[in-house]
Amino acid sequence: MRQQTLAIIKPDAVSRNLIGKIVERIEAEGIKIVAMKMIKMTKEQAKGFYYVHKEKPFYESLTDFMSSGPCVVMVLEGDDVINRYRKLMGATDPAKAETGTIRKEFATDVEKNAVHGSDSPESAEFEIRYFFSQLEIIN
Ligand code: UDP
Ligand code: MG
Repeated sequence: MRQQTLAIIKPDAVSRNLIGKIVERIEAEGIKIVAMKMIKMTKEQAKGFYYVHKEKPFYESLTDFMSSGPCVVMVLEGDDVINRYRKLMGATDPAKAETGTIRKEFATDVEKNAVHGSDSPESAEFEIRYFFSQLEIIN
């Protein structure tokens, strides 16, 4: 089933010049990038993006981190891409991520974990619309 998901290369990875290496991993998986841009979120924009986590103890620190520098946001497309890209990312905590995953290779810790990916069709729809207009997505 053809799906879209929202991917982010987080500020830790952008600042360490890992954009190309992460994009390479996504493309090597046969996943298509159908929208891509660089943004720097304000604290308020980061809080809006992660509102589902607003009660979590890590919410303040996470949204400080996500607004600390530029991110690359992308819309990815492919069969079952939500799950496939989650699998390619690896576990949230890089210490628990499988060998060969993006987080195992590039993440620093459970917060500065290099990448984001939507976790369901509903969150993908919200997250894609959060950053992209219809005109910015190739179809
Ligand atoms: N996070 C954190 N501490 C935690 C769990 C998560 O700082 O104990 C951060 C981390 O950057 C993670 C993001 O919050 O990617 C969102 O958490 P979620 O549980 O949705 O993980 P993900 O879906 O990104 O794997
Ligand atoms: Mg999540």
